[in-house]
Amino acid sequence: MRDVPAAKDLASLPTGDIILPESSDYDQVRQLWNGKVNKRPAALARCADAQDVVHTVRWARAHGVALAVRGGGHDFAGRALCDDGIVIDCSRMRAVSIDPARRVARIQGGATAGDLMGAAERDGLATTTGTVSSVGLPGLTLAGGYGPLSGKYGLVADNLLSAQVVTADGRLVATSVTEHADLLWGLRGGGGNFGVAVSLEYRLHPVAKVLSGLLLYPLDQAGPMLRYYGEFIRAAPDELTIQPGFIQMPMARPSSFSHLPIVVRLKKESGCSRRYGPPVSHWRIKSNQSRIGPSSTPWTRCFRRGATTSSKHSR
Ligand SMILES: Cc1cc2nc3c(=O)[nH]c(=O)nc-3n(C[C@H](O)[C@H](O)[C@H](O)COP(=O)(O)OP(=O)(O)OC[C@H]3O[C@@H](n4cnc5c(N)ncnc54)[C@H](O)[C@@H]3O)c2cc1C
Repeated sequence: MRDVPAAKDLASLPTGDIILPESSDYDQVRQLWNGKVNKRPAALARCADAQDVVHTVRWARAHGVALAVRGGGHDFAGRALCDDGIVIDCSRMRAVSIDPARRVARIQGGATAGDLMGAAERDGLATTTGTVSSVGLPGLTLAGGYGPLSGKYGLVADNLLSAQVVTADGRLVATSVTEHADLLWGLRGGGGNFGVAVSLEYRLHPVAKVLSGLLLYPLDQAGPMLRYYGEFIRAAPDELTIQPGFIQMPMARPSSFSHLPIVVRLKKESGCSRRYGPPVSHWRIKSNQSRIGPSSTPWTRCFRRGATTSSKHSR
């Protein structure tokens, strides 16, 4: 690892912590969702607020050191870390505030999808997020972000109203449709290199109930099933989101699957109950909110079911 001696200077970070390779928690703090990533940053700055981020960006710029930004740590390629550089770790910046009258949520740059959904559901509100609650919401947004409510409310990025961003020159810039609108345009799905998003505002929607589920079909039916899906989805109402894909079940041969989250206000006569054919396994969950997290995620449940009772229908 290249030595970055001045990294210790960063310890003057106003409120956050600096984790160096010799720190006892260095390995734990640099751990990402993809456990195979093994990048070794010169330091991780666990920022507490926007000023910590400004300070770290300016420091890295002054010293010509590479920077990476870590949110929820779910990027499979491990771009939240960089070898020999400084990581701005936003994972402690998770505050969320909800304005039910304006139907707007404001989050800090390290909040997860579950942080927002948990706070918004108290007012019967939600916005599009992904399917796993521990994913960082800014990371999800900057990558576009699709999820169970996308059919009705668009991508996560479509619901981004404004943001405060620390740019590469260390300035804190506010962006919205009326202020630095080109920057907001870039943030809406353009990737993570426009700056460090330290706070973001999202449009919320009244979502009282969500019905979601998972249908599993054997791999040899993938062709006809996907053709059926292609035809069916053209006429389906926006409230129905289907995420078709392939999944390898633990201890089982590969299966194709169709994941069916439905906003429950959907009318019965819309024909959504039509099915391609009997699946090998299915289940459904009624929820008063649209959050599906690591402990209750379809994948987890499905893995459990797949591992134990894969041929048993759940209703
Ligand atoms: C289990 C799992 C489930 C997933 N489900 C979905 C899904 O349902 N829908 C979907 O669309 N995607 C999904 N993804 C993909 C996920 O949305 C992206 O990988 C996303 O970039 C992860 O964000 P993160 O903050 O958790 O990750 P990190 O690895 O921390 O960050 C990824 C990148 O995002 C950028 N970034 C993060 N925070 C900030 C910030 N505050 N300011 C500036 N840049 C930032 C950085 O460039 C960083 O390198 C899933 C991934 C996993 C592993």
